[in-house]
Amino acid sequence: MSAKSAKAELTALIRPNILDLEPYHCAREKVLEGVLLDANENPFRHEADGIQMNRYPDPFQRKVRAALSSVIGLPSECFAAGAGSDEVLEWIFKVFCQPGIDSVVTAEPTYGMYQVTAQIFGVQRHLFRLDSRFQFRASDFLRDVPSSAKVLFVCSPNNPTGNLLEADEVLRVCREWGKIVVLDQAYVDFSREGDLSSEILRNPNLIVLRTLSKAYGRAALRFGYAIADPLVISFFMKVKAPYNLNSITMEHACVALADQENKRDEVRRICAERERVVQRLSQMAAVTEVFPSEANFVLFRCRGAAPVVDQLFSQGIVVRDRSSIPGLADCIRITIGTPEENDLLLRELDSLLKEG
Ligand code: PMP
Repeated sequence: MSAKSAKAELTALIRPNILDLEPYHCAREKVLEGVLLDANENPFRHEADGIQMNRYPDPFQRKVRAALSSVIGLPSECFAAGAGSDEVLEWIFKVFCQPGIDSVVTAEPTYGMYQVTAQIFGVQRHLFRLDSRFQFRASDFLRDVPSSAKVLFVCSPNNPTGNLLEADEVLRVCREWGKIVVLDQAYVDFSREGDLSSEILRNPNLIVLRTLSKAYGRAALRFGYAIADPLVISFFMKVKAPYNLNSITMEHACVALADQENKRDEVRRICAERERVVQRLSQMAAVTEVFPSEANFVLFRCRGAAPVVDQLFSQGIVVRDRSSIPGLADCIRITIGTPEENDLLLRELDSLLKEG
């Protein structure tokens, strides 16, 4: 398909009211400095952490998008950042999903916010089941997908199962389905070979989601971003609140992105701990299954998961009971903590499971 017809197909997926949208404009599209008398701000300088507070932040996120560009190796126009990737999910619904007409598909079991956001926007969600190894089967999806579906949400490495989805299967859907495929890669830094960001160059209907909340250790910042074709990004920039990210968040995001060495070091330590935790869990008699993980958490199945979670909680250890999710009976998800925290968890689990 030519680049021109690919763009035409992509444009056809955008809601008519958004295609026609004239977004809010501010006077600083070209300049950020000078005698700034355009935005009714207080002219007296206020600072926090050396960051100017009396001025509105850059609505075009220029500095932090340039930082993302240099880390990921794609043009700045391929990035848009939100208050966590949860905000980016909202833009996807705003741009592509007409309530009552369009629907979305989630590949289950997966992260709950896709379904919650669909419900908030009044958009119907269809459930597509991952296979028994939690893999996504493109041929099953292409056979069963309803005609009203406009967006597919997949997550790789997947939460809560921890596995990477086979890239070929996801990319086949991008090529053959032609609607929007959202690939959430929040945990990709913990995986060996999962990075599919450059695939947006060949698949303009692919939107990759990333966050600084996991490997970068900046969950409190609230900084997540989309990597996508510049046309998709241009519509995200139109529907987002003009000043969605504050100056402190954007400055600290630049600091986090500049420190790749520290991130890599922490990821290495977390992955080493993950392997140790997996080993120890596998040796516990009451643990019936430990699912392979390429993320910073591990899902496992054990006898009597719900009371185990309650008892851990009473010892001050908070883990996630996933046993009510179809296909995940008796499953618990644990985040990899510090070596000391993991030791504490393993000791408690060991004694609880022996007692039970
Ligand atoms: N995607 C996945 C798969 C997640 O598990 C989470 C958080 N648990 C998020 C996105 C949320 O990321 P953020 O903090 O950037 O909103």
